[in-house]
Amino acid sequence: MPELNVNPQSFDKKQLMLSVEEAQARILEAILPITTKERVGLRQGLGRILADPLLARMDVPSHRNSAMDGYAFRHIDTDIHKAFYVAGVSMAGHPFHDSLDIGQCIRIMTGAVVPADADTVVMQEHVSREGDIMTLQRIPIPGANVRHPGEDLCTGDAVLPAGRKLNAADLGVLASQGIGEVDVLRRPRVAFFSTGDELKGIGEVLQPGDVYDSNRYTLFGMLNKLDVDILDLGVIPDQQEAVEHAFAQASQLADVVITSGGVSVGDADYVTDTLRKTGTVDFWKIAVKPGKPLAFGKLNDRCLFFGLPGNPVSVMATFLLFTRAAILKLRGETMIELPEYSAICDTPLQKAPGRKDYQRGVCHLDVRGQWHVRSTGMQGSHILSSMSTANCFIALPLLAGDVNAGEIVNIIPFHELL
Ligand code: AMP
Ligand code: MG
Repeated sequence: MPELNVNPQSFDKKQLMLSVEEAQARILEAILPITTKERVGLRQGLGRILADPLLARMDVPSHRNSAMDGYAFRHIDTDIHKAFYVAGVSMAGHPFHDSLDIGQCIRIMTGAVVPADADTVVMQEHVSREGDIMTLQRIPIPGANVRHPGEDLCTGDAVLPAGRKLNAADLGVLASQGIGEVDVLRRPRVAFFSTGDELKGIGEVLQPGDVYDSNRYTLFGMLNKLDVDILDLGVIPDQQEAVEHAFAQASQLADVVITSGGVSVGDADYVTDTLRKTGTVDFWKIAVKPGKPLAFGKLNDRCLFFGLPGNPVSVMATFLLFTRAAILKLRGETMIELPEYSAICDTPLQKAPGRKDYQRGVCHLDVRGQWHVRSTGMQGSHILSSMSTANCFIALPLLAGDVNAGEIVNIIPFHELL
């Protein structure tokens, strides 16, 4: 397959910008995971991060039991017997308590205790039964259809590691151990607000030049996927005092504060002005498209700050590329990388060398297991519908130029993240 076009000429003056990878690394470096634990009921543990490693406190199964509905007997008896006297029954939850004489068996159901005298279970389809006599049609191998204590989990086994995001299977495993409560990490509290005099809430009437605030909805949706406590602090007007007050309030309430808008170098970019005073926030120009300006730092000694750009696609892209991983690390998760795949690009793409592009694409796997991707069309950072149409980013390297149809590109599927 043809390689991507690389044209190293036209990006020299942009080399001072931070690369995506460098910005990601700097952000992750600055984050220490939350360590505060809280005890929750098992169901409430779903999707939460396990605080401590979990060891099995008992054997599962705890008793020898039958894997089949059938008959339990001593295998050595088959040397002389094909027909066995049915001496009793063992049902799930109702064991057979007597002993078995030579040539005796018991009727047994799946999950029921295999009595100490028996070592083998024959499935009922392989016997004939007349009155109290069971006759083997086929002789199973010794030990057949018997499940042993600890086959699933043995006391002391490492069951789940710390940092594990508990899923449905984990809840079941914990329940099988008789564990009804788990210690999980406290959820991060994430506050966000939008900035801009042009922003109106849904239900308000738009004046000329106004737009409805969509960023607070995309942020809400993406944060929801991360299982954090969300505080929507609304829209803050472009006034120094209002922005200062909003920061003071948000930093008291939250572990992470996210803003959108006001971080470029326009006349009304009060986020930048306000935060320059604190000295613990960096203003980065990242070699990325969309989303070049990004502010990152701390509002006080523990509250992380992300100043995302205002354009609706830039907000989503910078959140997914930078903020998401930071929040995952903060909440104690260990699997935070977004997987990338190689795909055949079925449409040509326009790309100027000098920034890493995250274009919007629609990807699918063909019948041979090969990824394909096509562009969603116009790629402006204001085309929010492109995010809605897309199910992946097409990640084009810093140096890459235009892409021809049929070339190989990297994609980052994101449908599960929105
Ligand atoms: P700014 O970064 O504040 O200069 O904003 C850049 C662009 O994004 C402008 O066109 C804004 O109107 C738009 N924008 C900023 N915030 C929002 C928002 N919350 N919802 C929709 N558009 C926004
Ligand atoms: Mg603005």
